[in-house]
Amino acid sequence: MIAFESLLFPRDPSREPPNLCLSMSAILPLVSIFLVQVLMAASDSVEDTFLKCLTLHSDPSIPISAVTYFPNSPSYPSILEAYIRNLRFSSPTTPKPSFIVAPTHVSHIQASIICCQSFNLELRIRSGGHDYDGLSYVSEAPFVVLDMFMLRSVVVNLEDVTVTVDSGSTVGELYHGIARRTKVHAFPAGVCPSVGVGGHFSGGGYGNLMRRFGLSVDHVLDAVVVDAQGKVLDRESMGEDLFWAIRGGGGASFGVIVSWKVKLVPVPQVVTVFRVLKTLEEGATDIVHHWQHVADNIHDGLFIRVVVSPVKRKGQKTIRAKLNALFLGSAQELLDVMAERFPQLGLVAEQCIEMSWIDSVLFWYNYPVGTSVDVLLQRHASPEKFLKRKSDYVQQPISKPALEGIWKKMMELEKPVLTFNPYGGKMGEISDVETPFPHRAGNIFKIQYSVSWKEDGEDVANRYLDLIRKMYDYMTPYVSKSPRSSYLNYRDVDIGVNRPGNATYAEASVWGEKYFKRNFDRLVEVKTRVDPNNFFRYEQSIPSLVASGPRIIGSSTLVSPRYVPTETESLLNLCYRRDLPRAMHFLDAMERRGVCADAIAYSELIKCCLAYGAVREGKRVHHHIFSNGYHPKTFLTNTLINMYVKFNLLEEAQVLFDKMPERNVVSWTTMISAYSNARVNDRAMRLLVFMLRDGVMPNMFTFSSVLRSCERLSDLKQLHSWIVKVGLESDVFVRSALIDVYSKLGELLEALNVFREMVTGDSVVWNSIIAAFAQHSDGDEALRLYKRMRRAGFPADQSTLTSVLRACNSLSLLELGRQAHVHVLKFDQDLILNNALLDMYCKCGSLEDAKFIFDRMAKKDVISWSTMINGLAQNGFSMEAINLFESMKVQGSKPNHITILGVLFACSHAGLVNEGWNYFRSMKNLYGVDPEREHYGCMLDLLGRAGMLDDMVKLIHEMNCEPDIVTWRTLLDACRARQNVDLATYAAKEILKLDPQDPGAYVLLSNIYAVSKRWNDVAKVRRAMKTRGIRKEPGCSWIEVNKQIHAFILGDKSHPQIDEINRQLNQFVYRLTGAGYVPDTNFVLQDLEGEQREDSLRYHSEKLAIVFGIMSSPKEKTIRIWKNLKICGDCHIFAKLIAKLEQRHIVIRDPIRYHHFRDGVCSCADIYWRIKFAAVSLLFGVNMSVGLKQASAQHFILFSMCPDLSSFYSSNSMMPEAKPDYFRYFGEGKGVEGEVAG
Ligand SMILES: Cc1cc2nc3c(=O)[nH]c(=O)nc-3n(C[C@H](O)[C@H](O)[C@H](O)COP(=O)(O)OP(=O)(O)OC[C@H]3O[C@@H](n4cnc5c(N)ncnc54)[C@H](O)[C@@H]3O)c2cc1C
Repeated sequence: MIAFESLLFPRDPSREPPNLCLSMSAILPLVSIFLVQVLMAASDSVEDTFLKCLTLHSDPSIPISAVTYFPNSPSYPSILEAYIRNLRFSSPTTPKPSFIVAPTHVSHIQASIICCQSFNLELRIRSGGHDYDGLSYVSEAPFVVLDMFMLRSVVVNLEDVTVTVDSGSTVGELYHGIARRTKVHAFPAGVCPSVGVGGHFSGGGYGNLMRRFGLSVDHVLDAVVVDAQGKVLDRESMGEDLFWAIRGGGGASFGVIVSWKVKLVPVPQVVTVFRVLKTLEEGATDIVHHWQHVADNIHDGLFIRVVVSPVKRKGQKTIRAKLNALFLGSAQELLDVMAERFPQLGLVAEQCIEMSWIDSVLFWYNYPVGTSVDVLLQRHASPEKFLKRKSDYVQQPISKPALEGIWKKMMELEKPVLTFNPYGGKMGEISDVETPFPHRAGNIFKIQYSVSWKEDGEDVANRYLDLIRKMYDYMTPYVSKSPRSSYLNYRDVDIGVNRPGNATYAEASVWGEKYFKRNFDRLVEVKTRVDPNNFFRYEQSIPSLVASGPRIIGSSTLVSPRYVPTETESLLNLCYRRDLPRAMHFLDAMERRGVCADAIAYSELIKCCLAYGAVREGKRVHHHIFSNGYHPKTFLTNTLINMYVKFNLLEEAQVLFDKMPERNVVSWTTMISAYSNARVNDRAMRLLVFMLRDGVMPNMFTFSSVLRSCERLSDLKQLHSWIVKVGLESDVFVRSALIDVYSKLGELLEALNVFREMVTGDSVVWNSIIAAFAQHSDGDEALRLYKRMRRAGFPADQSTLTSVLRACNSLSLLELGRQAHVHVLKFDQDLILNNALLDMYCKCGSLEDAKFIFDRMAKKDVISWSTMINGLAQNGFSMEAINLFESMKVQGSKPNHITILGVLFACSHAGLVNEGWNYFRSMKNLYGVDPEREHYGCMLDLLGRAGMLDDMVKLIHEMNCEPDIVTWRTLLDACRARQNVDLATYAAKEILKLDPQDPGAYVLLSNIYAVSKRWNDVAKVRRAMKTRGIRKEPGCSWIEVNKQIHAFILGDKSHPQIDEINRQLNQFVYRLTGAGYVPDTNFVLQDLEGEQREDSLRYHSEKLAIVFGIMSSPKEKTIRIWKNLKICGDCHIFAKLIAKLEQRHIVIRDPIRYHHFRDGVCSCADIYWRIKFAAVSLLFGVNMSVGLKQASAQHFILFSMCPDLSSFYSSNSMMPEAKPDYFRYFGEGKGVEGEVAG
């Protein structure tokens, strides 16, 4: 029995909070004590006195007396014992609480808080009682236990896929509640069902879903908390700082958590589990060693935990590694993943068990398969033992010899069990400051050291404690350092405790930095604000700077000497509510009164200004902070600089930066990245030099910013070797920046080398390398890498999908693009992704889909409009493109140079000379867009099509830049059509001056001379071509059938079905000839004769591809073909006729445009052929397929101008690979779906 008197009389003064601040909250307890003493005088029982206080402060309709247990009540021992999970804290000598309140109503919690303060009692909050060191129910100071086990409702709401769960519930009850309502949702939390959500969530909460979804705290949407004043707060009223703190910072430092609102996560109906045991003799060391290299980067749906323990086999000591796994998918998928990434384990189908997610929870807790899920409602899942736990984080794989040493140590100590829990996946994607739980990217796995025993007694306990500490010490070289990190939920008082009463910042930071790293400071700030008198205190509670005195670091203090808590809090509340006008008003009032708030409040106010884009107010805050000669801390000045940077006021940022008495790495990095983002590259590079002179070492953020300012390979190489020297090359952002910059400078091979050096996979780095290849139009390689990324277990995010869509563009892979579309839906209405999708559909010639996307886009920017306008123009819908441009203007979106290019392109294709001139002449005045080379190119093409050669020459003279090959080629095309031999010869010579290797110009010249019967000149040109090794590019057509790409080249016979294709082609030609088709030999080289000419036409690659498409796909399916060369006139006629004959929709994309053939007509309205056909046959009879580079000017322009509209033109680079063997992205029989599904 506890002597109650001791609670009421003055105790050890060191336990009393220093009376630093005579605020109301400090005075209240004194008044209350006085009142209680008065009350006591009139009563005859101490218990009555407490009860009176509790009753006074709680709802009388739900009597608190019924749930308050004093040591003399019969239920007291059983209630206390019920949730003691560690028998070390259940001995007769363990201090016991003065009384226990088991609240059934929130007012019971409020009353407990108020009365404990009145009586100066500590309050220990217990939910599931799993605290490894018993801090939720034991204290050396007089204390009360608030036992939450009666508050345990679980309300599942499937409409918004959330659950509101009381903190007294166990995770088992939560899982049970979810499984009763849905089979396709789960919640990422602990593996042990009896853990209480009150403590578990407030310390982080991890389980076997963490690699896919992160921690419990990452899914908390709201919480109800009772604070030190007894106020009931929800997320809105508590503010984001407190809400942040209780999600991983240990709730018991800040208040009592009553309930959580959490978001559920999706899981498949069938998941797979396995359990594999290996001893040293069965290769456990190799397996654990290999596990370390894959555990954090394998498929994120796969969580493989390794439990290593010393065991005896046939009387011999050995080590046993138990691998427990959960895979969010089928057994077959799991086997595929394991075969690719972890074959060493030799997993076979028989070891895999498919089951529902809820059954996997039971499996993981060792219940036999088939156990009823109701077992989860048992709150005492396992027999309690004496135990001690410790934890560590591993960031570099442990070598095999070191593992062998560890095994030896374990066998020597006999008892310790080491559990390795893999990180990576989602854990690596969430910033370490997002929640107080800081152990995110960079950790391969966490170790839990366990020792459990059944024998009672202090000596026994000391022996076991000693052995687990020895094991922990032994591990020092292999685990994280500076600080050596620990997981809060694996409570370990060995790493440091607060002195009784009010610990100082310095004392608490000993253990605090291990649990929270740099988040510790923010936790201290929040604590100081919400519980300044440190009511919520225990051995590892966050200290309050008001209660323990300010933290002194160098010359700056965390709490400013002018700190006025109420001002700060009021200002903060206004900021949290984003009430900028009132916050500014408040700021003025504070200034008039000569008081100021703390740095956190100011930084919140700055955030508020940023949120509103309020430049004037931001400047005002700046002025206020510097008023009265106050010198803000570096952190606050950095925030101001960042504000100016975000407002794009680089000069203001620079002035502030220049005035800083002390600049840290954040100050420098903010400025460097500002200049880097603004493309003021030389300034960013120079700042790096100054930074070094200032003695400040760049960090990964500095490097990743400055890298993007590298314009020269030599600079990049220097920076790269420096990064290697300082050991930052494995930082994901630095690595990804290196890849981006090497790729930007055209050094794809170097980019690939940097990528290959990656040991621990990371989606940021994968995205960079995929984007590099997609941007360089190597869609094939980009997709190959994408496939590898998925196999490695990384999910596709926005950036990956954008690159995949871009890769689909360059290969016209509509089917794959559609698959990607399904995944884009996940990122509801993401503008960048929607634009990429739109572009993909336009590029793949599926205008219906493009229009569908465009019409449903909630938000459109200039890229959306331009993409659609260009897409319509390229697909032959010129008038629609122009009409859309007019609507764009009406909607108020400002066109840019790409939009105008699309409009001119549309005019050119529709032959709208006057309209084209109007748009061209007015673009500067109306839209502020200066005509660039590409716009001139479009106009030249338009004039050329109209045969206005004089105007063309005039415009070339007017150009504000030197004519290039494209300019001359456009003129050459036009001259050819208009029979102007002299001008054509001139243009061809100009091309050859600029590029003596241009095959198109040679062929044209040769044909021009042939038509003019200048045979000597013909011979000369042919000779020159031969000696220079110039060869015409062969025509190639591709078609995707059944998720495989088939390539056809004229004359190549390696396609397995080529005989059948040729047979059917001959039959079609025969049938079409009957219907009037005459092969047009004008499109054949001049030196072929008669039938030879017809034959060379007949087997053009596009004809082969069309016939193959008809043979291999159902009638309703559109046949989509893409070509490296412009479609020849004969094939154009053939396609029209066969589309009619076979009632097919055929789309051919050549470097010029899209041709949609349906019912005997083409979407291009034959405009090209109408103009050129006659001319070509009349004058030159030129082979139209003279090479990709001969493609019409504006196409080159369009594709090369629009970086986000992938550069089809350079898909020319595919030519060396354009052999008719099939290049496959997907394994046989597996198909695209298997790859893209994520
Ligand atoms: C057998 C076992 C298995 C475990 N498995 C896992 C696991 O798989 N994953 C994992 O992440 N952790 C695991 N843990 C650790 C567990 O998450 C922590 O011990 C957690 O704090 C337990 O919460 P609790 O409510 O059960 O504990 P309690 O002992 O009740 O509380 C722990 C801490 O939280 C505070 N607290 C409790 N309730 C509240 C509340 N309502 N408001 C404010 N503060 C509160 C307490 O005061 C104490 O400081 C395990 C622990 C055990 C003993």
